[in-house]
Amino acid sequence: MSHLFPTYGRWNIEPAAGKGSYLIDQTGKEYLDFTSGIGVLNFGHCHPDITESVKKQLDKFWHTSNLFSLPVQEETASAIAELSGLERVFFSNSGAEANEAAIKLARKATGKSKIITCYQSFHGRTFATMAATGQEKVRTGYGQMLETFKYIEFNSIQDLEDAADNETAAIMLEIVQGEGGIHIIKPEFIKKLEEIRSKTGALLIIDEVQTGIGRTGKSFAFQHFDIKPDIITLAKGLGNGIPVGAMAGREELAEFFGPGSHGSTFGGNPISLASAKAVLSELTKEGFTRSVEEKGKLLIARLQDELQESPVVKEIRGLGLMVGIELKEDAAPYLKALQKQGLLTLPAGPNIVRLLPPLTVTEIELNKAIEHIAQTLAKKKQVV
Ligand SMILES: *Cc1c(COP(=O)(O)O)cnc(C)c1O
Repeated sequence: MSHLFPTYGRWNIEPAAGKGSYLIDQTGKEYLDFTSGIGVLNFGHCHPDITESVKKQLDKFWHTSNLFSLPVQEETASAIAELSGLERVFFSNSGAEANEAAIKLARKATGKSKIITCYQSFHGRTFATMAATGQEKVRTGYGQMLETFKYIEFNSIQDLEDAADNETAAIMLEIVQGEGGIHIIKPEFIKKLEEIRSKTGALLIIDEVQTGIGRTGKSFAFQHFDIKPDIITLAKGLGNGIPVGAMAGREELAEFFGPGSHGSTFGGNPISLASAKAVLSELTKEGFTRSVEEKGKLLIARLQDELQESPVVKEIRGLGLMVGIELKEDAAPYLKALQKQGLLTLPAGPNIVRLLPPLTVTEIELNKAIEHIAQTLAKKKQVV
């Protein structure tokens, strides 16, 4: 019997090694890994420079606590600040914790408690971020939720107008809803957000936990639009597999997070930050995010082309290398079939095949994946 709580449905694959875009199992079978550890391995398995950076730190010291100042925290924060335009950074261990920090900071800075989030959003599994998450299935069974959060339809201008008022501390949302099914924010909605924000004084928190670190073809997904959020949160891709999260905010918010106001024992741990620092240095290499944008466009265009006659495909959408193939039926059997062929993909909701390849994926690997997907999702055609 297993001594683990059965919180996860597990796949029947035993990982043995990872290299670049490939995961190799105990039997030696190679899988093209388009899950990237759920949007984490943006630079692929065991990226040599990131591995080297972590190994170096392992040999120096592992942990000190935040009673000490660490140059690697300053350097990584400064890289995030330069990339995002947000001057202050708090390091956490996960996405949910980064969002917790954002929620606490927004409440403290505004002195208000209402936070607007969207249906189909995903913000984490802690008590506050579960309540922030606009999906019933995440909250079921846990009783009374925090009353701080009010949900609106994603992209609904009317809902936003109705919900936002002078009691609103913040509006928190994803630019592309990841777990919720690859739904992309509309420019009109962003415009309205800006308007509401200046009218009510509500802070804008962008959850970039899945969309950040180059995933959508920009360093951060908000950079596709002409906006400057008050706060962004990061995790997943930030450590390329080493647990680390971050919340970045405007300079004016610094005074509300003074000594003793918030903290974490492990947050900003030097091993985590050795990986984050190396990740940011890869991310900022000349032409890198542009290459992600181009590969994303190629992937989406080719999938649309190959699958235009598929009887099971409803819609293909995405931004950069964050792509969803919405099916007219349950996606689970197709994920299984793709696994058999050697391609690992993710679900998002019941009907969506989600692709999150490493951003370092090659065109040859993309084409191989497209071939598997075209074969698998065209199958129904032969049956019918
Ligand atoms: C994964 C995810 C989170 C939660 O991150 P954890 O590290 O699992 O706590 C929060 N927000 C978004 C958008 C995510 O995709």
